[in-house]
Amino acid sequence: MEPIDYSKRTFNFYPTNGIVFAKCIDGRWTKPEFTNDFNLTLHCFAGVFHYAPSCFEGLKAYRGADDRVRLFRPDENAKRLESSARYLDMPCPNMEMFIDMCVMCVQENWEYIPPYGTGASLYLRPVLFGINPQLGIKSANDVMFVVMASAVGSYSGAKSLVPGTAVLSRNYDRAATYGSGGYKLGANYAQSLHAYNLAHRMGYRELLFLDSATHSHIEEFGTSNFFAIKHGCYVTPNSPSVLPSITNKSLRKVAEEFGLKVERRTIFIDELETFEEVNSCGTAVVITPICRIDDKVTLESGTITCEYKYPDVCGPISEKLYHRLLGIQMGTEEDTYGWCMFVNSPKE
Ligand SMILES: *Cc1c(COP(=O)(O)O)cnc(C)c1O
Repeated sequence: MEPIDYSKRTFNFYPTNGIVFAKCIDGRWTKPEFTNDFNLTLHCFAGVFHYAPSCFEGLKAYRGADDRVRLFRPDENAKRLESSARYLDMPCPNMEMFIDMCVMCVQENWEYIPPYGTGASLYLRPVLFGINPQLGIKSANDVMFVVMASAVGSYSGAKSLVPGTAVLSRNYDRAATYGSGGYKLGANYAQSLHAYNLAHRMGYRELLFLDSATHSHIEEFGTSNFFAIKHGCYVTPNSPSVLPSITNKSLRKVAEEFGLKVERRTIFIDELETFEEVNSCGTAVVITPICRIDDKVTLESGTITCEYKYPDVCGPISEKLYHRLLGIQMGTEEDTYGWCMFVNSPKE
């Protein structure tokens, strides 16, 4: 295999050896299989094409400084997939099967795990979707679970910790108040794609969604959670329509370790003015500093833009959090909480 230049990679699909899959038919799971065929054959009446019974996960396999390979908190991803599947009323692999299939996918794609120090990692994308032919509106009985992998660089293509801009989503919501925002569903993304495209066309890297009922408080970015630093506090929104990010959950622990007070609460828009550091966080973006948030408010007289400005570089506290979290994932910092799971090389 030609050596790969991982330093140029973005968050995208890059070919690997293959995928791992299993099906649940009439309540019974098939044995997980590996295939190097990336194409699936599905019935065109499969629910996934019509009513979106589909949920997914995202986690990374990291090659550490000690050359060992770690998965970060895969048990949390297994639990979240289960909660998404429960919301969709469809079968789901249990935690053991979820983790086994992730491990199998890592081992089958072993030579694609980027070397330590490249900033790249092997992203795993588990997807669960309804496959039985149906026309009537009901939950999927039969499902397919696929774990695929792609060796990715940073989400935005920029080097990590390079700040980006965001705009408040005044005209589009990601999730309804009593809706599916707290579950990792493909449908949530379908709902935000158009708004995202508009924001990107306007030159913003990120789109920051508000609560759909009142449009008065901050929820999260389209693909990642929101957290801010203020007076020694780590502040992040508390809302059932925000996706419970494992990165955010882990950062809250690390923040406490550093003596920060952690607040999960409602964040009204005007509080944006008072934050010292603002970031998006998630497995794909890790931590991305936000250097400006624009709020375009439409009045009768036209649109005015209110700007909330933050440092042009990653803030010192956010940077400390970033290095601690990444250090745990790369094995250069003590894994105090036992978050990492080692994956053996397929030869062992
Ligand atoms: C996946 C996701 C996140 C980040 O969750 P992590 O577990 O940290 O990767 C945040 N927001 C949304 C909408 C997501 O889909």
